Amino acid sequence: MEKKSWNFDNSYAKLPQIFYTKQHPTAVRAPKLITFNDSLADLIGAPLQLEVFAGNEVPKGAQPLAQAYAGHQFGHFTMLGDGRAILLGEQITDSQDRFDIQLKGSGRTPYSRGGDGRATLGPMLREYIISEAMHKLGIPTTRSLAVVATGEVVRREKDLMGAVLTRVAKSHIRVGTFEFAAHFGSVEDVRSLADYTIARHFPETATLENKYLLLLRQVIERQAALIAKWQLVGFIHGVMNTDNMAISGQTMDYGPCAFMDVYHPDTVFSSIDIHGRYAYKNQPGIAAWNLARFAETLLPLFHENIHKAVQLAQEEAESFESLYQNHWLAGMRAKLGLFDERPDDKLLILDLLELMQQYEADYTNTFRCLTIDKRDGLFLFSAPDYQYWYERWRVRLKKQSQSTDESKALMKSHNPAVIPRNHRVEEALSAALEGDLSKMHQLLNALDNPYAYAPEQEEFSQLPPPEFCHYKTFCGT
Ligand code: AMP
Ligand code: MG
Repeated sequence: MEKKSWNFDNSYAKLPQIFYTKQHPTAVRAPKLITFNDSLADLIGAPLQLEVFAGNEVPKGAQPLAQAYAGHQFGHFTMLGDGRAILLGEQITDSQDRFDIQLKGSGRTPYSRGGDGRATLGPMLREYIISEAMHKLGIPTTRSLAVVATGEVVRREKDLMGAVLTRVAKSHIRVGTFEFAAHFGSVEDVRSLADYTIARHFPETATLENKYLLLLRQVIERQAALIAKWQLVGFIHGVMNTDNMAISGQTMDYGPCAFMDVYHPDTVFSSIDIHGRYAYKNQPGIAAWNLARFAETLLPLFHENIHKAVQLAQEEAESFESLYQNHWLAGMRAKLGLFDERPDDKLLILDLLELMQQYEADYTNTFRCLTIDKRDGLFLFSAPDYQYWYERWRVRLKKQSQSTDESKALMKSHNPAVIPRNHRVEEALSAALEGDLSKMHQLLNALDNPYAYAPEQEEFSQLPPPEFCHYKTFCGT
C-alpha cells in the first residue's frame, strides 16, 4: 500500500486576522486509539498517527487555529467560536481535493468562555457512528477519522473519560461565520469571507458578476437538498442553530441528533429543546430561517441600495420552499417505487404518513417492509384503512411502464434496511465505555451499506424495546 502522509495547506489562515486565533491543541496525558477510519484515511491520504489525533504533536505543515464564529442559538444571537476545537489545516489529496482536519475536544481556546475545551468519549463515539452512518446513507456530512481517549478525566455531572475526535469536513465555514463577519467585522471582512467561500466551494462562479447572489442561491440549493434527505430518512439534527449549519451543505455538529423510530412529525429528542423548535416537522422551516440570517449578512454585497439588496435577497430566499418540496417529493416517489410524476402522488404520500402517525408505525420499517413485501411486524399493516391505501398504491404502480422488479430496485436504493437506531447506538456506546468495542464495530458493519438488505443486517432493523419510546438525547459536551 502506498505510504500516506499529511499534505497540509492553510488557506483559512490567510483570511483577515479577525476570523481566527492561532492556537495549538493542548497535549493530553495518556492517549489511546479507540477507533480509526481506514477507508476515510485511504480517501484523504491521512496517516495513522496517534500523537497527532491526540493533539500532542502538530504535523509538519499544519498551522493550527481556532475559528471565530457567532450564531443564533435557539433564535438568540451570540458570539461563539471554536471553544474546544482546533483546525489543524486542510489536507490536500492526490486528486487535489481539500479537506479540513479538525480536532474536537483538544483543549481550551480564546473562544472557550467558561468551558474546559474538552470532549468526552461517549459523545465523540456517537458522532463517529452517526456521521459515518449518514455518509453511508448517502447524505452529505462531515466525517470522522479517529477517536482517541485522552487518559484524562473530564468533569461533567460526573467524571467522564476525555476524548478527541478528528473530524474531516469540506470546510467548517458556517452560517455563523458570516454572522460573525457581519456583526463584528467590516463589509470588507464579509467580502473576504464570501470570496474565500466561493473560491473554495463554488469556484465555477468566481468570475461571474453576480457571484454573491449566486453564493446565496447555491447555499440555499444545497441546504434544500440536504434537509430533504434528512426528512426522507427520519434524521433529526436536534440543534439547528445557525452556527451548526455548514455553507458546504454537509450535515455538521452531531450533538443531540437521533433517528426517528415511530413516525410522528412532532418528534424531538433533545432534552434542551423544550418547545420543539428543532422538531422533525420544523427542520425545513428552520433551515429557511437560518438561510435568511445568512442572506442578511450578504446584503451589502448584493447592491449598494439597501432596498434593492433586500429585494434581491428575498427573491432568492423564497426559492427554498419549492426547492425543498421538489427534493422531498422526488425522494418520496422513489421510496414508493414511482418513476413518473402524477398529480395525486403527494396525496398518496401524505396519506401514508398520516396512517403511520395514527397507527404509530416505525418510519424506517414501514418503507423497508413495503420494499420487501413483508406484511407483518407492524400493527399498521392490519388496519383496514391501510389496506385501502395499499390498493391505491398498487393501482398507482400499475400506471407506470416500469416493471415491479424495477420499482423494487428503486425502493431498495432509497429505503434503508438499517439506520443507527437509538437503542443499538446506546448499546454500542455502553459496551465501548466498558472497553468492549465489538458491538460498535458490528453496528458500523451493519451500517456500511444500509441499502444492501443483507440477512445479517436484519437484527439491526428490529424495533426498539418499549423503554426507548421516550428516548432523550443530551448535548455532547
Ligand atoms: P455545540 O453545542 O457543540 O455546537 O457548541 C456550541 C458552542 O459551545 C461552540 O462555540 C463550542 O465551541 C462551545 N463549547 C461546547 N463545549 C465546550 C467545552 N467543553 N469547552 C469550551 N467550549 C465549548
Ligand atoms: Mg456547534
